[in-house]
Amino acid sequence: MSLLRGRNVGVSEIAERTWRIESRIGPRNLFQYLLAGDDVALLVDTGTSETPHEAILPALREVGVARIAVRFVVVTHPDLDHQGGLASLKSELPAALAACGFADRSLVSEPERLVTDRYGAYELEHHVGYSDEEKAWVRSVSGAPATIDLTFAGGEELDLGHRGLRVLHTPGHSAGHLALHDPENGLLFCSDAVHWRMCPAADGSSALPPTYEDVDPYLETIDRIASLAPAELHSGHWPARVGPEIGAFLAESRAFVTTMDVAIEDRLKDGATLRDLCEYVDARLGPFGADPVNLMFAVHGHLRRLLRRGRVSLLDPAARPLRFERTAS
Ligand SMILES: [Zn+2]
Repeated sequence: MSLLRGRNVGVSEIAERTWRIESRIGPRNLFQYLLAGDDVALLVDTGTSETPHEAILPALREVGVARIAVRFVVVTHPDLDHQGGLASLKSELPAALAACGFADRSLVSEPERLVTDRYGAYELEHHVGYSDEEKAWVRSVSGAPATIDLTFAGGEELDLGHRGLRVLHTPGHSAGHLALHDPENGLLFCSDAVHWRMCPAADGSSALPPTYEDVDPYLETIDRIASLAPAELHSGHWPARVGPEIGAFLAESRAFVTTMDVAIEDRLKDGATLRDLCEYVDARLGPFGADPVNLMFAVHGHLRRLLRRGRVSLLDPAARPLRFERTAS
């Protein structure tokens, strides 16, 4: 890593005309990727509101890509550490089109909706969510509202000038999550589409539990990435996976989903709230290095799937928090 400014901030060339821009969010690595062709360049993700000036714009200078050459800024999904820098990059990159997945547009363009609709999705019914202090921090780093110029469904081909990229729809972590595939060079940029068995700190210890929302789309995304057989898998927080490491990473991600199902069904024998389930999963499969509340996304996704399959029942719909119980079989 070549140090640009301060500790843990840098840019590395990972392939020809391809750079990983490196910084930190808390204890975790935070990566954006810059891909250049003969004509234009594309940026994968924007970091937090601080990342453009801390890492991305210095990286462009360091590698010699002109700001005017950046044609696409792709926000892979709605999270403060991926969309937070969008508004400031739009003002610094005069030719850039801001892009995200079609299903994620309102969350990406209006950061306040992250607080209410994504991170706050379980508050009213389940009394599970973040504290006011945590929300204040989210607001402080998730950037200003920004217009989305282009939404992708997945399947679009982008020509950077003798370098073609394919946009992939990789839902699960969010409904519209995107990945970028560079088939000619065997590179796949998956951001947070696949969460392994945890999200690591830079030292390799666990910093967060897996946070996918919809289980079946998440599993399909894992299979889809496997079927593309990339040579290198580059993500938002995990170390690069190369060659056979990719198969293991995907298999372990899939296995985690199965262990979650088993744990949740076990706990539901007695009836449980979303909070009970998060605490139980943290104790049984973790610890994940963070407040068990961070399991709410994945646990609620499993709960929805179990309900649809008739394996779990909602008890009193008027009670708060809601309680669930395993259906007698
Ligand atoms: Zn992330």
